Amino acid sequence: MNKIKIMDAAVKKWQRIIDKKGSDGGVLDCPPCRIYYFLVCTGCPIAQYTGQKFCKGSPYIPWFRHQLEQHDKLIKKVYCPECEILARDMQNYMIEIRDHLKAKEAQRARQKEC
Ligand SMILES: [Zn+2]
Repeated sequence: MNKIKIMDAAVKKWQRIIDKKGSDGGVLDCPPCRIYYFLVCTGCPIAQYTGQKFCKGSPYIPWFRHQLEQHDKLIKKVYCPECEILARDMQNYMIEIRDHLKAKEAQRARQKEC
């Protein structure tokens, strides 16, 4: 699976959370984590983008902290308006990374043509 497809899957995962149809299982159901986490979080498109491992520097941290501090439930999902805002932040970030990868790929394709 290429990284753009992985990030697409991540965008979809967060859409399900925003739609209140899904929950966040962290590492277990994060598409990039499922592929990269077991290699101690190297090569993950999010880690490459933030320059930090384990989703540090991404909107996942405020989401995770809010879930822990405000809701403290086993399942991480949208419980309040703040949750929804934080989930949207995370999804927007996934979109940003995907588009960044797409732009890079387009650039590489152009260079090949020359
Ligand atoms: Zn909340």
